[in-house]
Amino acid sequence: MTDSGLGDLLLEDFRPRSSARVDVTLLDRPALPVIDAHNHLGRWLSGDGGWMAPDVGQLLATMDACDVTSIVNLDGRWGTELAENLERYDLAHPGRFHTFAHLDWRVLSKDGDASAALVAQVEAAADHGAKGFKVWKDLGLTVRDGQGSLVMPDDPRLHDALVRVGQLGLPVLIHTADPLAFFQPLDEHNERIEELAKHPDWWFGDPGLPGFDELLGSMASLIESCPGTQFVGAHVGGAAEDLGLVARLLDRLPNLSVDLGGRMAELGRQPRAAAKLIMQYSDRVLFGTDAFPIGPEDYRHWYRFLETDDECFDYAPEAEIPPQGRWQVSALDLPAEILPKLYSGNASRLLNIPTP
Ligand SMILES: [Zn+2]
Repeated sequence: MTDSGLGDLLLEDFRPRSSARVDVTLLDRPALPVIDAHNHLGRWLSGDGGWMAPDVGQLLATMDACDVTSIVNLDGRWGTELAENLERYDLAHPGRFHTFAHLDWRVLSKDGDASAALVAQVEAAADHGAKGFKVWKDLGLTVRDGQGSLVMPDDPRLHDALVRVGQLGLPVLIHTADPLAFFQPLDEHNERIEELAKHPDWWFGDPGLPGFDELLGSMASLIESCPGTQFVGAHVGGAAEDLGLVARLLDRLPNLSVDLGGRMAELGRQPRAAAKLIMQYSDRVLFGTDAFPIGPEDYRHWYRFLETDDECFDYAPEAEIPPQGRWQVSALDLPAEILPKLYSGNASRLLNIPTP
């Protein structure tokens, strides 16, 4: 190595290209139409405050080209932002978009009955036409009450609101915690060190914060305490690196299902275990991409990942360095008979979305 001068090559400059000569199966369309149960079309996550899908006509063209019947938009927020999301998507294009609202946790840091205020928020959003609620990972990691204490997912002040969601016949999509490595020491053993070096605010290993297992435990006790409310655990229930834990959560919590959003990298490095989980809980896994702003190639890559038996390919082909970690994935080769449920049936039943 030293003779060639490569001994000083830095990891950040290392861009290996796979020399495995393997089959590539490209799918333009899925085996049957899909519902994308996890996506972001609103404004709060875009850096410049603009719409995540600046051209709705172009988005609809992508959906039509890739057989996407409808998309769940998780960016409704509340108040006028909710109204504007509903107007732009759900009302302008009936049946193609389903916007979920958020709860404004700031009431927890103010005087007054936070529990009643959150119930009122649920009712107002439902009245406006929200199709469900998104609960984000800020709960447990950054949301604080008036005393400065972190508010965990199973905080009693949230209970009545999430029960009310179920009484109104609406679902909750909940994202708790984050990849396991984001809670592990930031050192040379951390498998996502390059990603965390780029996004230091994604690291939650600070001893003042709850750990991964504590967060997942709190999410489970929230879900258990609201048996009449349907929950979808985003990102494979938040535990894509630990599919045994996902199975235990699904066994314990009949009102929990999970989506696949944003976790191709984790699922594709354990393709047999991932396929087994999806088949074993075939009524409770939802297709969702969490790829945004989304284009046709993103959908087609997911269809390849779910339907073919291709091996050893990039989970993020557009990136020169795999963004979540330096590994490649293999496809799940799911049997045709479970695709109707995964692609649309489960979302249709659990999120009250008309079947394609
Ligand atoms: Zn998301």
